[in-house]
Amino acid sequence: MDGADLLPNSAPFPRVSLESLRRKITACRRCPRLVRWREKVAREKKAAYRREVYWGKPVPGWGDPKARVVVVGLAPGAHGANRTGRMFTGDESGRWLYRALWRAGWASQEESVGRDDGLHLRQVWITSPVKCAPPDNRPTPKERDACAGFFKKELLLLESARVYLALGGFGFEAVARFFGLRPKPKFRHGVEVPLPGGRWLLGCYHVSQQNTFTGRLTEPMLDAVMKQAGRRAGLSVGKD
Ligand code: SF4
Repeated sequence: MDGADLLPNSAPFPRVSLESLRRKITACRRCPRLVRWREKVAREKKAAYRREVYWGKPVPGWGDPKARVVVVGLAPGAHGANRTGRMFTGDESGRWLYRALWRAGWASQEESVGRDDGLHLRQVWITSPVKCAPPDNRPTPKERDACAGFFKKELLLLESARVYLALGGFGFEAVARFFGLRPKPKFRHGVEVPLPGGRWLLGCYHVSQQNTFTGRLTEPMLDAVMKQAGRRAGLSVGKD
Protein backbone atom coordinates (compact mmCIF):
# COMPACT_ATOMS: atom_id res chain seq x y z
CA MET A 1 0.00 0.00 0.00
CA ASP A 2 1.44 3.42 -0.86
CA GLY A 3 0.30 7.01 -0.57
CA ALA A 4 -2.12 6.70 -3.47
CA ASP A 5 -4.24 4.52 -1.17
CA LEU A 6 -4.99 7.60 0.90
CA LEU A 7 -7.50 8.45 -1.78
CA PRO A 8 -11.13 8.17 -0.66
CA ASN A 9 -12.79 4.79 -1.28
CA SER A 10 -9.45 3.05 -1.78
CA ALA A 11 -7.74 0.25 0.17
CA PRO A 12 -9.04 -0.70 3.62
CA PHE A 13 -7.89 1.49 6.47
CA PRO A 14 -5.14 -0.15 8.55
CA ARG A 15 -6.36 -1.64 11.80
CA VAL A 16 -3.46 -0.32 13.85
CA SER A 17 -4.20 2.87 15.86
CA LEU A 18 -1.93 5.85 16.43
CA GLU A 19 -1.64 4.79 20.06
CA SER A 20 -0.54 1.24 19.29
CA LEU A 21 1.83 2.60 16.66
CA ARG A 22 3.28 4.95 19.27
CA ARG A 23 3.92 2.00 21.61
CA LYS A 24 5.61 0.00 18.84
CA ILE A 25 7.81 2.93 17.86
CA THR A 26 9.00 3.73 21.38
CA ALA A 27 9.99 0.08 21.95
CA CYS A 28 11.99 -0.23 18.71
CA ARG A 29 15.68 -1.18 18.74
CA ARG A 30 16.07 -2.15 15.08
CA CYS A 31 19.00 0.14 14.16
CA PRO A 32 22.06 -0.74 16.28
CA ARG A 33 24.00 2.46 15.50
CA LEU A 34 21.05 4.71 16.36
CA VAL A 35 20.21 2.79 19.53
CA ARG A 36 23.82 3.18 20.69
CA TRP A 37 23.86 6.88 19.83
CA ARG A 38 20.52 7.88 21.36
CA GLU A 39 21.41 6.05 24.60
CA LYS A 40 24.95 7.43 24.73
CA VAL A 41 23.63 10.98 24.36
CA ALA A 42 21.07 10.25 27.07
CA ARG A 43 23.75 8.98 29.43
CA GLU A 44 26.38 11.62 28.81
CA LYS A 45 23.97 14.61 28.48
CA LYS A 46 24.71 18.24 27.74
CA ALA A 47 26.06 20.19 30.71
CA ALA A 48 22.97 22.45 30.80
CA TYR A 49 20.70 19.41 31.23
CA ARG A 50 22.90 17.26 33.47
CA ARG A 51 20.22 16.97 36.17
CA GLU A 52 17.56 15.83 33.72
CA VAL A 53 16.59 12.28 32.82
CA TYR A 54 16.81 12.06 29.04
CA TRP A 55 14.13 10.18 27.08
CA GLY A 56 16.80 8.35 25.04
CA LYS A 57 14.29 6.31 22.98
CA PRO A 58 12.61 6.63 19.58
CA VAL A 59 10.36 9.70 19.45
CA PRO A 60 6.92 9.17 17.88
CA GLY A 61 4.96 11.87 16.09
CA TRP A 62 2.38 13.84 18.03
CA GLY A 63 -0.41 16.37 17.65
CA ASP A 64 -4.01 16.42 16.50
CA PRO A 65 -5.02 13.00 15.05
CA LYS A 66 -7.46 14.90 12.80
CA ALA A 67 -4.68 17.17 11.54
CA ARG A 68 -5.01 18.70 8.09
CA VAL A 69 -1.35 19.77 8.15
CA VAL A 70 1.41 17.23 8.82
CA VAL A 71 4.81 18.78 9.55
CA VAL A 72 7.62 16.43 8.54
CA GLY A 73 11.13 17.03 9.88
CA LEU A 74 14.17 14.77 9.67
CA ALA A 75 14.74 13.02 13.02
CA PRO A 76 14.72 13.88 16.74
CA GLY A 77 17.36 16.36 17.91
CA ALA A 78 19.98 14.85 20.22
CA HIS A 79 19.37 17.24 23.14
CA GLY A 80 15.87 18.33 22.10
CA ALA A 81 13.38 15.56 21.32
CA ASN A 82 15.81 12.83 22.39
CA ARG A 83 15.89 14.55 25.79
CA THR A 84 12.23 15.50 26.19
CA GLY A 85 10.52 12.68 24.26
CA ARG A 86 8.42 14.99 22.07
CA MET A 87 9.23 16.10 18.53
CA PHE A 88 10.89 19.52 18.21
CA THR A 89 10.60 20.06 21.95
CA GLY A 90 13.35 21.59 24.07
CA ASP A 91 15.75 23.00 21.49
CA GLU A 92 16.19 26.07 19.32
CA SER A 93 14.68 24.42 16.21
CA GLY A 94 11.54 23.67 18.19
CA ARG A 95 11.36 27.23 19.51
CA TRP A 96 11.20 28.47 15.93
CA LEU A 97 8.67 25.91 14.81
CA TYR A 98 6.24 26.21 17.73
CA ARG A 99 6.38 30.00 17.74
CA ALA A 100 5.39 29.92 14.06
CA LEU A 101 2.58 27.42 14.75
CA TRP A 102 1.38 29.62 17.60
CA ARG A 103 1.38 32.71 15.38
CA ALA A 104 -0.60 30.69 12.83
CA GLY A 105 -3.14 29.84 15.55
CA TRP A 106 -2.44 26.10 15.45
CA ALA A 107 -0.54 25.79 18.76
CA SER A 108 -2.03 26.74 22.14
CA GLN A 109 1.19 28.41 23.32
CA GLU A 110 4.48 29.53 21.81
CA GLU A 111 6.68 27.62 24.27
CA SER A 112 7.52 23.95 23.95
CA VAL A 113 9.83 22.81 26.74
CA GLY A 114 8.67 19.34 27.79
CA ARG A 115 6.04 16.64 27.30
CA ASP A 116 3.95 18.02 30.18
CA ASP A 117 4.15 21.74 29.32
CA GLY A 118 0.44 21.97 28.48
CA LEU A 119 0.95 22.60 24.78
CA HIS A 120 -1.85 21.47 22.46
CA LEU A 121 -1.86 21.41 18.70
CA ARG A 122 -4.94 22.02 16.60
CA GLN A 123 -5.10 20.72 13.01
CA VAL A 124 -1.38 19.93 13.04
CA TRP A 125 0.63 16.74 13.49
CA ILE A 126 4.42 16.79 13.82
CA THR A 127 6.59 13.87 12.85
CA SER A 128 9.77 12.67 11.15
CA PRO A 129 10.70 9.82 8.79
CA VAL A 130 13.40 8.60 11.22
CA LYS A 131 12.36 8.24 14.86
CA CYS A 132 15.76 8.07 16.58
CA ALA A 133 18.33 10.84 16.93
CA PRO A 134 21.19 10.16 14.48
CA PRO A 135 24.83 11.27 14.87
CA ASP A 136 25.33 14.59 13.03
CA ASN A 137 21.61 14.55 12.11
CA ARG A 138 22.46 12.10 9.34
CA PRO A 139 20.68 8.77 9.26
CA THR A 140 22.05 6.25 6.75
CA PRO A 141 19.83 5.10 3.85
CA LYS A 142 19.59 1.72 5.63
CA GLU A 143 18.32 3.40 8.82
CA ARG A 144 15.90 5.55 6.82
CA ASP A 145 14.53 2.43 5.13
CA ALA A 146 14.32 0.54 8.43
CA CYS A 147 12.08 3.28 9.85
CA ALA A 148 10.02 3.78 6.68
CA GLY A 149 7.37 1.29 7.80
CA PHE A 150 6.56 3.37 10.90
CA PHE A 151 6.40 6.57 8.85
CA LYS A 152 4.15 4.94 6.27
CA LYS A 153 1.73 3.57 8.88
CA GLU A 154 1.61 6.95 10.58
CA LEU A 155 0.76 8.81 7.37
CA LEU A 156 -1.92 6.24 6.54
CA LEU A 157 -3.51 6.79 9.93
CA LEU A 158 -3.60 10.57 9.48
CA GLU A 159 -6.61 10.37 7.21
CA SER A 160 -7.57 14.06 7.38
CA ALA A 161 -4.18 15.31 6.20
CA ARG A 162 -4.32 17.67 3.22
CA VAL A 163 -0.86 19.24 3.41
CA TYR A 164 2.51 17.66 4.18
CA LEU A 165 4.81 20.49 5.15
CA ALA A 166 8.34 19.18 4.81
CA LEU A 167 11.06 20.97 6.76
CA GLY A 168 14.10 20.25 4.62
CA GLY A 169 14.92 17.90 1.77
CA PHE A 170 14.98 14.71 3.84
CA GLY A 171 11.33 14.97 4.92
CA PHE A 172 10.37 16.21 1.45
CA GLU A 173 11.87 13.13 -0.19
CA ALA A 174 10.29 10.82 2.37
CA VAL A 175 6.80 12.16 1.59
CA ALA A 176 7.49 12.02 -2.17
CA ARG A 177 8.59 8.39 -1.75
CA PHE A 178 5.49 7.57 0.27
CA PHE A 179 3.29 8.88 -2.54
CA GLY A 180 5.46 7.22 -5.21
CA LEU A 181 5.95 10.51 -7.09
CA ARG A 182 7.63 10.19 -10.50
CA PRO A 183 9.63 12.07 -11.54
CA LYS A 184 10.92 12.88 -8.09
CA PRO A 185 10.06 16.52 -7.28
CA LYS A 186 12.94 18.82 -6.41
CA PHE A 187 13.01 20.33 -2.94
CA ARG A 188 13.14 24.07 -2.60
CA HIS A 189 11.80 26.55 -0.11
CA GLY A 190 8.19 27.43 -0.89
CA VAL A 191 7.66 24.75 -3.54
CA GLU A 192 4.15 23.24 -3.79
CA VAL A 193 3.70 19.78 -5.30
CA PRO A 194 0.21 18.39 -5.99
CA LEU A 195 -0.46 14.93 -4.54
CA PRO A 196 -3.22 12.39 -5.17
CA GLY A 197 -6.59 13.18 -3.61
CA GLY A 198 -6.22 16.98 -3.68
CA ARG A 199 -3.38 16.89 -1.18
CA TRP A 200 -0.19 18.96 -1.33
CA LEU A 201 3.46 18.58 -0.48
CA LEU A 202 5.08 21.86 0.55
CA GLY A 203 8.80 22.53 0.99
CA CYS A 204 10.30 24.77 3.65
CA TYR A 205 13.87 25.21 4.81
CA HIS A 206 14.45 23.27 8.02
CA VAL A 207 14.18 25.29 11.23
CA SER A 208 17.70 24.20 12.23
CA GLN A 209 20.09 26.75 13.68
CA GLN A 210 22.18 26.34 10.55
CA ASN A 211 19.35 28.08 8.68
CA THR A 212 17.85 30.36 11.34
CA PHE A 213 21.14 31.74 12.73
CA THR A 214 22.42 32.52 9.27
CA GLY A 215 19.23 34.23 8.09
CA ARG A 216 18.63 31.66 5.38
CA LEU A 217 15.26 31.11 7.06
CA THR A 218 13.57 34.09 8.73
CA GLU A 219 10.36 34.30 10.74
CA PRO A 220 8.50 36.14 7.93
CA MET A 221 9.58 33.36 5.53
CA LEU A 222 8.28 30.72 7.94
CA ASP A 223 5.01 32.63 8.43
CA ALA A 224 4.57 32.84 4.67
CA VAL A 225 4.93 29.05 4.38
CA MET A 226 2.40 28.55 7.18
CA LYS A 227 0.00 30.73 5.19
CA GLN A 228 0.61 28.61 2.09
CA ALA A 229 -0.06 25.47 4.14
CA GLY A 230 -3.21 26.95 5.63
CA ARG A 231 -4.52 27.99 2.24
CA ARG A 232 -3.93 24.54 0.74
CA ALA A 233 -5.39 22.81 3.81
CA GLY A 234 -8.45 25.08 3.98
CA LEU A 235 -7.50 26.45 7.39
CA SER A 236 -7.47 29.99 8.69
CA VAL A 237 -4.03 31.28 9.62
CA GLY A 238 -3.33 33.89 12.28
CA LYS A 239 -5.53 36.94 11.75
CA ASP A 240 -6.62 35.87 8.23
S1 SF4 B 1 15.22 4.72 13.61
FE1 SF4 B 1 13.21 3.74 13.52
S2 SF4 B 1 13.60 1.63 12.92
FE2 SF4 B 1 15.56 2.49 13.65
S3 SF4 B 1 15.64 1.97 15.85
FE3 SF4 B 1 14.73 3.99 15.69
S4 SF4 B 1 12.51 3.63 15.63
FE4 SF4 B 1 13.53 1.69 15.17
